[in-house]
Amino acid sequence: MIKAIIFDFNRTLFDPLRNVPFTGALELILNLKKIFRLGLVSTGGESRVATISESGLREHFDYIRVVEQKNEQVFLDFLKRFNFEPQELAVVGDYLGDEIACGNKIGAVTIWYKEWAALTMKVENEGHKPQFIAESYKDIQKILSVK
Ligand SMILES: [Mg+2]
Repeated sequence: MIKAIIFDFNRTLFDPLRNVPFTGALELILNLKKIFRLGLVSTGGESRVATISESGLREHFDYIRVVEQKNEQVFLDFLKRFNFEPQELAVVGDYLGDEIACGNKIGAVTIWYKEWAALTMKVENEGHKPQFIAESYKDIQKILSVK
């Protein structure tokens, strides 16, 4: 049973072209936070920290990490902090080689959000293969069994 979700930020919740969250991102997070412990893990530096703060999404997450590079340990730290098992975690993101690969490595449920640039991305190896594919926020909620 999924109890927690780690979201990617850029191109999953946030549109870097318009520099605002995608339409429906806030509603998605508001829905999910009622049921799940929510984490946000993003790559980047100081400017990304500021972008997350200004996005209006920050306050809805229980855990935020901005890292140079995503790896398994970043996800394991989240599990340890809240005392969850890997199979109780869903990882949602647009980048197969990053959050999906890391999520797979630790045994989390992986959901590839392929609504945007990721549409041209292909699963190139078994480790990058997501368990679920979501083409909309509605899909994400369906996969997580949220109505
Ligand atoms: Mg991304």
